[in-house]
Amino acid sequence: MASNSDAKRSSFMSMGEVSFDESDSASNLETHNSYGVPSCECRRKSKAVVYTSKTSKNPYRTFYGCRYYKEGKTHCKYFKWVDEHIDERLAELEEGKQNLEMDTKVIEVMMKDMQEKMKEIMGWKKKMKVMIGFMIVIVIIAMVSRQ
Ligand SMILES: [Zn+2]
Repeated sequence: MASNSDAKRSSFMSMGEVSFDESDSASNLETHNSYGVPSCECRRKSKAVVYTSKTSKNPYRTFYGCRYYKEGKTHCKYFKWVDEHIDERLAELEEGKQNLEMDTKVIEVMMKDMQEKMKEIMGWKKKMKVMIGFMIVIVIIAMVSRQ
C-alpha cells in the first residue's frame, strides 16, 4: 500500500537531498505570499509549489518544487529554497532602488539645466525691458526734437 508513494519519494530523493511533505500549510503559503513565486522548468511553466524539507540537514526548511510532483504527474526537477529565493528577490529590489536613485539624479541635473536656462531667459527679459525703455526714450527725444 505504501510502496507506491515510497517509490515516488525515493525517485525524487535520488535527484536531491530532500524529501517532500505535501502538507496543506504548504499550499496556504503559496497563496499568501506576495513576493514573486518562481516558475518551474516544465514546458507549461507553472508556478512552483512550496514544500517542507524533512531532512536532518534542513529540517522544516521550505522550498519550491514542481506542482506536478504533488499531483503525481510527470514533473520537472525544479528546486529552490524559499529563503534563498526571497534573498534573491530582495537583491533584485535593491538593484531596482539603485536604478531609481540614478533616475532622480538625472532629473536633478535636468532641473538644474532648466533653472539655468530660466535664469538666462529672465536675464534676457531684463535686457529687453531696458532696450525697450531706451527705444521709447529715443522715440520721445526724436519726436520732441522734430518740433
Ligand atoms: Zn515543473
